[in-house]
Amino acid sequence: MSKPLVRDVIIIGSGPAGLTAAIYAARANLDPLVIEGEPSSSSDQPGGQLMLTTEVENYPGFIEGVMGPELMANFRAQAARFGADFLTRKITKVDFSERPFRLWIEDTELHARSVIVSTGARSLMLDLPNESRLMGYGVSTCATCDGFFFRGREIAVVGGGDSALEEATFLTKFAQKVTVIHRRKELRASKIMQDRAFRNPKIEFLWDTVVTDVLGDTTVSGIKLRNIVNGEESELAVAGLFVAIGHVPNTDLFKGQLDMEDNGYLITQGKSTRTNVEGVFACGDVQDHTYRQAITAAGSGCMAAIDAERWLEATGEAEHEIMETPRNW
Ligand code: NAP
Repeated sequence: MSKPLVRDVIIIGSGPAGLTAAIYAARANLDPLVIEGEPSSSSDQPGGQLMLTTEVENYPGFIEGVMGPELMANFRAQAARFGADFLTRKITKVDFSERPFRLWIEDTELHARSVIVSTGARSLMLDLPNESRLMGYGVSTCATCDGFFFRGREIAVVGGGDSALEEATFLTKFAQKVTVIHRRKELRASKIMQDRAFRNPKIEFLWDTVVTDVLGDTTVSGIKLRNIVNGEESELAVAGLFVAIGHVPNTDLFKGQLDMEDNGYLITQGKSTRTNVEGVFACGDVQDHTYRQAITAAGSGCMAAIDAERWLEATGEAEHEIMETPRNW
């Protein structure tokens, strides 16, 4: 059997956090290997959540905005330019109990002196027949990103938690009317968020109601609804549907090895990206459920690369020795 690969840094995940970490690690001569995910998977596709959006208008440096996939392609090309290697595969198992750390892609074992976890989070979706087809064309999971496109329009938000009410309230800056659709009669959101939403004249509530499909050929034109108490079906004409039913971090792989909060987000120490395992760092949405922006994820990716570099230097672990990367996958 051939000797496992040993890298100074293996980065798991290729959204803004992972690719920024790759740029910084590559420029620090750490020859990072990025395990970027697989195109077939919705939760860990290469490029992360920005691959599911259309235009990004709030990423600094792009006066006219930039398409999410193009932005991620640029991040990747920039990391590649400095020598980062990529594997379009998924890590299926890790063992962080001893160093070098062990990671597996199915039966293939990789070894790393340090690991940067940037596996991100995913929005929970409703799994409606036309939801993914219209994602980025009226269906959105991010009001901060997409609200601006709905100036003067009528839109709907699904969910009854703080996210849904925060999104709905934010969206009233742009939309003419926002209908919050909730499957029960009571909201889960905090009292203060509820009061704010109830006071907002642009917000209406539809109780005991679920969305059963999204309508529209190329962009959203409406949604189908069902009242779960009386079974009545109806349609609502809206230009946008914001799904705000929660997020989950992609941390199943690390259960029992990295400290996490009850909701699965990885815990990092203080202002650093250090996890509870020395030599393993976490950045981006996998450890941040507060900001969740491309720019904040990129910033923490930069921090993780610097933390990893300093740690490798301080512990004398860095060898800058790369073994062959399997390019035939
Ligand atoms: P959440 O509190 O879990 O609420 C999710 C909401 O979506 C619930 O009302 C739930 O309905 C509904 N829902 C879940 N699955 C659904 C489905 N399949 N179909 C229809 N509705 C569905 O999630 P969140 O609002 O994202 O908040 C997550 C955490 O972040 C919370 O702790 C929250 O307080 C915090 N947060 C805080 C702020 C803030 O303070 N500014 C902002 C955002 C989030 P049920 O109520 O019937 O279960």
